[in-house]
Amino acid sequence: MNRRERSVAIVGATGAVGREFLRVMEDRRFRVSELRLISSERSAGSTMVFRGEPHPVSVMTDRSFDGIDVAFFSAGGSVSREHAPRAVARGATVIDNSSAFRMAEGVPLVVPEVNPEALAPIRGKPAIIANPNCSTIIMLVAVTPLRRIFGVRRVVVSTYQAVSGAGAAAMEELETLTRAAVEGRKAEPRIFREPCAFNCFSHDSAMDPRTGRNLEEQKMIDETRKMWGDPAARVFATCIRVPVPRAHSEAIVVELERPASEDQVRAAFAAAPGVRVLDDRASNDFPTPAKAAGRDEVLVGRIRPDESLPSESAGGRTMHSGWALWACGDQLRKGAALNAVQIAEALDA
Ligand code: NAP
Repeated sequence: MNRRERSVAIVGATGAVGREFLRVMEDRRFRVSELRLISSERSAGSTMVFRGEPHPVSVMTDRSFDGIDVAFFSAGGSVSREHAPRAVARGATVIDNSSAFRMAEGVPLVVPEVNPEALAPIRGKPAIIANPNCSTIIMLVAVTPLRRIFGVRRVVVSTYQAVSGAGAAAMEELETLTRAAVEGRKAEPRIFREPCAFNCFSHDSAMDPRTGRNLEEQKMIDETRKMWGDPAARVFATCIRVPVPRAHSEAIVVELERPASEDQVRAAFAAAPGVRVLDDRASNDFPTPAKAAGRDEVLVGRIRPDESLPSESAGGRTMHSGWALWACGDQLRKGAALNAVQIAEALDA
């Protein structure tokens, strides 16, 4: 892992995810021979510090990807659609955080802890690799360990999503509206339709009037099916935005194909890559978004059987088919920048 130096471009470097890329690469000692930081005209001309050195931020040009090994894209779908294929044509491997290519045939959609095998077809050649939606990543890091051992019949998830999932400007909006509310002033939301301070609301992505699902909920269904390689995987999602600056939380109920005891379920989580169990019933100490913020692992707790689903007795133990958990993960980190850097590392491994 992390064996050779790479020339790296970050498209959207000044955004919420882009800034996290710099922190993650520093933390992981990701070996970088050259760093190109790209933004829109708004931030071009500024500088960002990486490993103590200032690096200029510039707009995209025809030469932006010349000599680049890895291009991390986090500037939205339309920028990725236009420029990611051009970066690949110049010989770069693109790891894209937008939704532009996630469901495209032949584009691997990868979480290294979930489906690293999906990288095999593109190994050693320039290609686009898609980073899944942040809520999907957090859910699948938590649930896939159970699926591997017991099989999963159905997942029901409710999300409590941080405002920073909508970018740096949304983070500022939470601060501005919170300050205004505390000071008794009136302030109108600009990024979200609803006020995000002291409030929660149905996810701000587009709503499909026919299905009643918003796009975030649909992504959790479609992307899970693609990554699990099961077009019939049963996922039901309700996505909600909450007044939290950073890290998404998810209440998840899993129906297993083969019922499991509590010991077995806990052992599965304890051995799961990318998961840290925080489940102290005696002191009521469980995952929170504040505890997950800035961390690499998805925190998992509130592990308990869902007794509304069938159970059976075997060898003196109760084996439950239904299991509930509460997971919190930093969506800027594992849900975006960290996952993308891990993909780049996995390609070198
Ligand atoms: P953001 O904070 O709004 O940042 C957007 C970035 O894109 C800024 O650096 C912006 O530069 C740059 N940009 C905008 N238009 C551009 C253009 N035409 N050419 C080059 N750069 C351009 O957004 P974000 O939250 O970081 O999200 C970025 C992407 O990651 C989105 O596709 C999002 O869906 C995805 N994502 C976000 C999260 C999350 O938790 N936020 C999680 C997973 C995936 P300026 O500074 O010049 O405006």
